[in-house]
Parts: sequence; structure tokens; C-alpha cells
Amino acid sequence: MKDIPTQNMFIGNEWVPAASGKTLDVENPANGGIIARVPEAGVEDVEKAVAAAEEGFREWGGLSGVERAVILSRAAAVLGERLNDFVETEVKQCGRPIREMSAQLGRQPEWFEYFAALARTYENTQHPFGTGHVNYTRRVPLGVVAQLTPWNHPLHILMKKVAPALAAGNAIVAKPSELAPLTPLMLGEVLKDAGLPAGAFNVITGFGGTAGKALVTHPRIRKIDLTGGTETGRRIAAIAADSMIPCTAELGGKAAVIIFDDVDFERAVSGAMFAAFIAAGQTCVQGSRILVQRSIHDRFVERYTERVGAIRLGDPEDPKTQMGPVVSKAQRDNALNYIASAIEEGATIATGGKPPEGKAFENGYYLEPTVITEVTSGMRVFQEEIFGPVTVVVPFEDEADAIRLANATEFGLGSSVWSRESSRGHRVAHALDCGVVWINDHHRIDPASPWGGHKSSGMGHDNGILSYESYTKYQSVIVNLSDDFFDWYGSDEAGRLN
Ligand code: NAD
Repeated sequence: MKDIPTQNMFIGNEWVPAASGKTLDVENPANGGIIARVPEAGVEDVEKAVAAAEEGFREWGGLSGVERAVILSRAAAVLGERLNDFVETEVKQCGRPIREMSAQLGRQPEWFEYFAALARTYENTQHPFGTGHVNYTRRVPLGVVAQLTPWNHPLHILMKKVAPALAAGNAIVAKPSELAPLTPLMLGEVLKDAGLPAGAFNVITGFGGTAGKALVTHPRIRKIDLTGGTETGRRIAAIAADSMIPCTAELGGKAAVIIFDDVDFERAVSGAMFAAFIAAGQTCVQGSRILVQRSIHDRFVERYTERVGAIRLGDPEDPKTQMGPVVSKAQRDNALNYIASAIEEGATIATGGKPPEGKAFENGYYLEPTVITEVTSGMRVFQEEIFGPVTVVVPFEDEADAIRLANATEFGLGSSVWSRESSRGHRVAHALDCGVVWINDHHRIDPASPWGGHKSSGMGHDNGILSYESYTKYQSVIVNLSDDFFDWYGSDEAGRLN
């Protein structure tokens, strides 16, 4: 049997095992093989990582924005040089096709570039205070921050958090998903080689309920930043409230893709496929509810199911593969349960609905891309996040009906509106209660573009100036410009009190 490599944790610029010596296996979901072992961290390891981060913060937090920018720009270059290794590992640990991962990871250096630019150029503000005084505010780093990330975009989501946190001068202890910790660990080497001081970036590996919990409840953590499920978000927000520290939570979604009948038909069909099946549907803004104006609904369902049925499933390492497996057996069982619930509630499986047959799929967690019709807004498949290659198509009558349906879940992360009428695109976007709306597009993002959810999809933002600021605390400095003697109790005159 082939030796399975152990990839230790990254603490204080060194590779360290868990104090307990325990490890956990990282599986390739395309064939069930174990590709690596990583330490299973416990309380003692969290303590070590936080102590290393405090040490790192003493140096990193004291640098100027310009000095931090130089190191982050170098990190962008180093990451750019190593992208092939990252793509290869990401494909193996997530089962996502190499074409998708190459496209997604190719843009990751931009996050370091953008936030390096922000660290270099961010301007503090001066405020009106009346004559005789000057009032300015400073943004200062928070200290040691905890970052918890999911398995669906292991490097990308971590980049969205690491880049602003470091740019603002914080030190990080990251806890990636137990299912996909390898590329987050590799990022440690990139930052070390770029010249980041030891301890400014640390990665511990392990389970949410143990390592994650020990990290978020650690008394010296100054912010919690989570991307994950809504239930995890609620738990972590309560812990942050108890510790009186800020919390950013990027949580689940149930994105609507609203297609009006004036739109270019084929463009809408391919747009709705892109929205629903990238990452085998395992994205928080997956187009999981395709709302189609009734006048084109039947024609749309026919063409959509024909094209979705032709998506090429297969080995993620083959450049021709368009969809790989889902990340785990549990994730596939979850999706199959939702499909069963839809049938029970009276919906129709228009295409897909089961694991594909054939030797190539035997040991992996594959599931056919699935489209469900005859769905009503009360059904579980309309309301709940499935996080797999499953979407529903539902007709609507007019603009008001589309808005009503789109807003009819507890989630409010992303949605897209497809129409040739630009005024309608904006009007509908403004009526949607969600944090990100695309018009005639889906999934596209930029490090400068704020990303965050409404309702149960979370609070706070990744990306943009907002995320940089969320990694700082404010200090207001009020300067008396006068050297005159002032003695309130030595005089009876009315003067300026406040
Ligand atoms: P998850 O909530 O199970 O885990 C997320 C991270 O939190 C992991 O590192 C996990 O180990 C950790 N964790 C879990 N329970 C914890 C606890 N009690 N204390 C501390 N840490 C804990 O999510 P997942 O299954 O890895 O990812 C899928 C979810 O992420 C989906 O709901 C998806 O919508 C969401 N997501 C949201 C966004 C967004 O931008 N809003 C992006 C991607 C994924």
C-alpha cells in the first residue's frame, strides 16, 4: 500500500503535530482514497497557536501599512508561481474539476494585491470639532483573530479573510474544514516565503466541535470570522456576543435565478446552468431556485433539462470533465434525501435524481445533476439549502410574483435577475432582500466587491474596504491646540464643558 503523507499544522512558521499525536484522514471524494493525514488539534494546540499569533502580532501589528503592503505583494507573486500545486491539491481534496479549480485559483493572487494596495493607501479621517481642537480617527488592528472556513472553496474563502486581516495588521489562527485542510496549510509556506513574520499566520487542523470550539472560545481571540452553515453561524455569533468581540458570519443561501421572458433564451439557459452546477452545486450562492416567467417556462424546462442531462460527469483530474463528485458520502446522502422529500411532496424529477452508473463512478460520491419541477414554495427543496447538484424550476407570473417568490425563504445571500430591460433589472434587484444581486450574470466576484448576506445568510462582509475596516478598531484622538491654562474649578466663568 502507498504511504500516506502526513501534513502537519502551521504554527509560528513551523510544521507541528497535535500534542495528542492524533491525526485525521483527508479523502479524495472521486475515489474514496486517503490522500493525506493531518493533525487532530485539541485545546493544547489551540493554546500554542494563539500564543504564537500573539508573538507574531507584536511584530506584524507594529509595521506600517506600506511595510505590510510590500510583504503582501510578494505573497501574491509567490502564490502565483505555485498555483499549479494548489490546483492539483484542491482537485484531489474537493473533487472539483481541474478546469474549475484552475479558473478559480488563477485569480487568488488578486486578493493579496488588492489588500496590499489598501494597506498602502488607506486614509484616516479628520472630523469637525469646533475651533481650538483637531479630531482625527485611526484604524488599528484588533490583535489575534480566528478564521473558520468551509470545504467548498478551501483556498478562495480563506484568501477572502486572510488578505484583509493581514493588511490591517492582525495575526491569524485559521481552522479550515476537516474535509479540505491541505491548501490552507500550503498557504502558510507561501506567506513564510514572502517574509511574513513568524506567528502572524497560523493554521490548526481538526474538527469544528473540538478544535474550532476551543479556538472561538479562547479568551484572547479578538474577532471571529466564519464562513459555514447557518447553524454553525448562530452558535458562533452567540459565543462572540458573550466574549464581546466582533463576528463576521458568511452563511448558507438559497439563491433565486429570475428569468424574464424578454431575455435571450439560450443565454438564460446557459446562465442558469452556470448558476446551479458549478462546484457540483456546492456553493453558497448556487442558483438553487430557477424562477422562470410562465410564458417561457415549459420551453425553458425542456431545453434546460436537455442541456443539464448532457453535463459531462467524470474524473475531476480530466480537463474535459465538467462536474465531479460531491465532497463526501454524507453530502451525497443529504442531497438524495432532499430528492426523496421532493418526490414525497409531489414534485417531479425532470432529469437526474440518482448516482450515475458505471465503473468510473463506483468508489466516488457522484450524483447526476438534478432538476426538479412541479415544486411549490412550501416544499423543503424550495426552502432549505441542499448544497449539491440539485435545483428546482418554478414558474412566475409577473415582476411582483417573481420578487415574492425570490424573497420567500429565510436566506438572503445572492440572487440573479436576467432581463434585457435594464430598468427592470435594477428595479427587481432593489426589491430583493439579499446581499448580492447579479443582473445578467451569476457567481462573478472581485476582491473589491463587498460580499455578505441578509437574513439567515449572515452578518458582516468579506471583500472590499468594508472587510478591511472590519478587521480594525476605531480610535478617536482629540487634540487641544491651545497651551492656555485651563482651570474649571478655579473660576466661575462659563466655558466649554464638552
Ligand atoms: P460548517 O458550518 O459545518 O463548517 C464551517 C467551519 O466551521 C469548519 O471549519 C468547521 O470545522 C467549523 N465549525 C463547525 N462547527 C463549529 C463549532 N461548533 N465551533 C467552531 N467551529 C465550528 O460548514 P461546511 O459544511 O464546511 O460548509 C458548507 C456551508 O458553508 C454551507 O451552508 C454554505 O452555504 C456555507 N458557505 C457560505 C459562504 C458564504 O460566503 N456565505 C460561502 C461558502 C460556503
